[in-house]
Amino acid sequence: MSNYNIAVIKGDGIGPEIVPQAINVLNAVGEKFGHTFEFTDVLMGGCAIDEAGTPLPQETIDTCLKSDSVLLGAIGGPKWESLPGNERPEVGLLGLRAAMGLYANIRPAMLFQPLKNACPLREDIAAKGIDMVIVRELTGGIYFGERGRDGDVAYDTEKYSVSEVRRIAKVAFETAMARGKKVISIDKANVLDSSRLWREVVHETAQSYPEVEVSDMLVDNAAMQLVKDPSQFDVILANNIFGDILSDEAAMITGSIGMLASASLGDTKCGLYEPIHGSAPDIAGKNIANPIATILSAAMMLKYSFGLTAESLAIESAVNKVLESGVRTADIKDETTEKVVGTVEMGEMIISEILR
Ligand code: NAD
Repeated sequence: MSNYNIAVIKGDGIGPEIVPQAINVLNAVGEKFGHTFEFTDVLMGGCAIDEAGTPLPQETIDTCLKSDSVLLGAIGGPKWESLPGNERPEVGLLGLRAAMGLYANIRPAMLFQPLKNACPLREDIAAKGIDMVIVRELTGGIYFGERGRDGDVAYDTEKYSVSEVRRIAKVAFETAMARGKKVISIDKANVLDSSRLWREVVHETAQSYPEVEVSDMLVDNAAMQLVKDPSQFDVILANNIFGDILSDEAAMITGSIGMLASASLGDTKCGLYEPIHGSAPDIAGKNIANPIATILSAAMMLKYSFGLTAESLAIESAVNKVLESGVRTADIKDETTEKVVGTVEMGEMIISEILR
C-alpha cells in the first residue's frame, strides 16, 4: 500500500470539468490496487490571475515541488487574451516547467482502434496502425536562445549544449527500451551546426543502448513520413521547435485531440501531466468535453512517476473497453456510435470498467 501526494491544477475553461474525472479514476485505481492518492488543489493560469493577481502564485510552485506529481487540466481563454505577454496565463505554465526543471516532453500519439474512422489518413495507411511517442526537448533551443530586433531585422538563436542533448537523448532511449526499441532522431544536419552537434551526441548516447535501433531523419522528411507511413515510428526524438511542430502533426493524424495525453519530466520523479489540448472555452461548462486525454495523463503519471505499470494499463484498457462498446463523447462520435455521453458519464463508465 502506497500513498501519493498529487498537486492538482484544474485551470480554466473545461479544466474544472475534466480534471475531476481523472481524480475519480485515480481514486478507483487506488481502491482496486490498494493505494491512496491525496490531492491538493492549486491555482495557475487565468483563474490564478483572477484570484491571486498572478498566473503562477508562489504557493502553487511550493506545493508542486513538495508533491509526488502534478496533474494539470488546461489554462487560458479569451478573458485573458488582451493582457500583456508577460502577464498572460501561459506565463504560468512556462514558469512552472522552469521551476520544476522539466526538460523532457513526452507525447504518445496513437490511433485507438475503435476510433480508426477518425484518422484523416487513407484507410490502408491507418490500417497499419499509429503508435508512437514523441520525446521533445523542452527548455533549450530557439525558444530560449538569444533574440532581438533591430529596426527591420529580427533574430532568434538555436543553441544546444552537449549536456542538454545528452539528457534528452537518454530519455528517448529509455522510453524506447520500454517500447519498440527504435529511436528516430530528427534534425536539419544538412544545414544547421546545432543539428550536427545534436546528431553527434545522439549517436554517442546510443552506444549505451545497444538494443535500441537508432537512425536520423531530416525534419522536412519527417513531416512527410508522418503522413505517408506513420507506422514506421516508435520513438521520435526532437529538439524544442521541431518537436513542437511534429507532435502537433502526429496528434492530428490520430484524429482525436480529446484523447491524447502528455508528460513533462525532469531529473526527479515529480512530473507534470496534462492533456495535449487547450482549455476549449467554446465548450466549457456544458458537460460535453472529452475527459479521456486527462484520464490517460493520469495513467501516464502512474507509469512514469510512480512506476505503477499494471495500474496504468488498467486505465488504458478500461478506456479501450468503453470505446469498443460504442460509447463516445460528442467530439469523437461518428455514424457507428451507439451512445453519446457527457464528461461525467464517460468518467463513470471508465471507472466501472476499472472496478469490474
Ligand atoms: P483547444 O485545444 O482548447 O481547442 C481546439 C478545439 O478542440 C476546440 O474546438 C475545442 O472545443 C476542441 N477540444 C479541445 N479539447 C477538447 C476536449 N477535451 N473534448 C472535446 N473537444 C475538445 O485549442 P484553442 O481553441 O486553440 O485554445 C483555447 C485556449 O486554450 C487558448 O487560451 C489557448 O491559449 C489555451 N491552450 C492551453 C494549453 C495548455 O493549457 N497547455 C494548450 C493549448 C492551448
